[in-house]
Amino acid sequence: MKKHRVAVAVLWLLALASPLAAQGVRQEIQFPDVAGYQTLKCDLHMHTVFSDGAVWPTVRVQEAWRLGLDVIAITDHIEYQPHKDDVPTRHARSCDLAAGAARQANLLLIRGAEITRDTPPGHFNAIFLTDQAALDTPEFLDAIQRANQQGAFVFWNHQGWKGPEKGRWLEVHTTMLQNKWFQGMEVCNGDDYYPDAHRWCLEKNLTMLGNSDIHDPDLNQRSQSTNHRTMTLLLAKQRTPEGVKEALLAGRTVVWYKDRLIGRKEWLEPLFAASVQVDPPHLRTKDAVFLTVRNLCEADFVLQRTGKVGPQTLTLPARSTSLLKISTPAPAQALALEYTVTNLWIAPETGLPVRISVPGERSGVSAQRRNMPVSQ
Ligand code: ZN
Repeated sequence: MKKHRVAVAVLWLLALASPLAAQGVRQEIQFPDVAGYQTLKCDLHMHTVFSDGAVWPTVRVQEAWRLGLDVIAITDHIEYQPHKDDVPTRHARSCDLAAGAARQANLLLIRGAEITRDTPPGHFNAIFLTDQAALDTPEFLDAIQRANQQGAFVFWNHQGWKGPEKGRWLEVHTTMLQNKWFQGMEVCNGDDYYPDAHRWCLEKNLTMLGNSDIHDPDLNQRSQSTNHRTMTLLLAKQRTPEGVKEALLAGRTVVWYKDRLIGRKEWLEPLFAASVQVDPPHLRTKDAVFLTVRNLCEADFVLQRTGKVGPQTLTLPARSTSLLKISTPAPAQALALEYTVTNLWIAPETGLPVRISVPGERSGVSAQRRNMPVSQ
């Protein structure tokens, strides 16, 4: 009797488990939580067949979940509707259709739209919208204002992309900035990096974003250091739409673009510190120490020595442990390894300075892993 009950319970569990197993496998993107915030992987710019994309909205959700994203915004063009003979213009429809799939996958879906006027002024995404159709109005600034009236977070997309002005900063942008009608810029979009946008974000206190602007199906199997969607790492107090919005408005973002992480020093510094663990030396010879350094995150770190100790260049591959030999005339003493992380950009072409501390023999912290980025 007892055996029978166990068998029934097992069958029940199998029955419950089987539909879940059919939903697929998610490849997590490894970035640690930073400075008490959750690190959310976000792609806030993408298209479906409801504008000029090539996939149905639910597919965007499935792709994002499978590739380890936490938050997406579907941002179909308001004005550009090349499929309208086959798919009628219904501005909210792509988000409506994706919402159920997002809930099932526990993926945060933010309702958005792309305000797509001539360049200048350029293309702007508005996210956290409640009524996309309201942006379908002749005047550009009316559309921007209507987005703001809905409490949207508005950002300038792919600033250097095209048009006679090639993304120049014009009067209209000053007007928008002074009125706080846009709050961020894409520093990276797909395969492109925009140094002007990067500079302006720093100068004008705008939030830095990186997004895929994906139109085609995403055929990648996983996100890797060398091959991943351009995305925004968002440092959020909570994994909710409100948490996402608060973090965007506060500018707590790091852009993951190709082999680079781009962001304010304020956030890159703790991200590096949380990602790199330095083990105390396991061997000290008369003129060297041997130790291991782990990189827990999904991005490689490329370091160039700025101080006097340590290898001239050092690459810490993603999700790997590196064995280091550090030549020193005083192997029993603590060491400070000063480097610039050349692929963590705190400004255009400007790496993040860090100091990696290696404990001495009698420092009393032999069991403790330490890593202390330095400020300059
Ligand atoms: Zn777009």
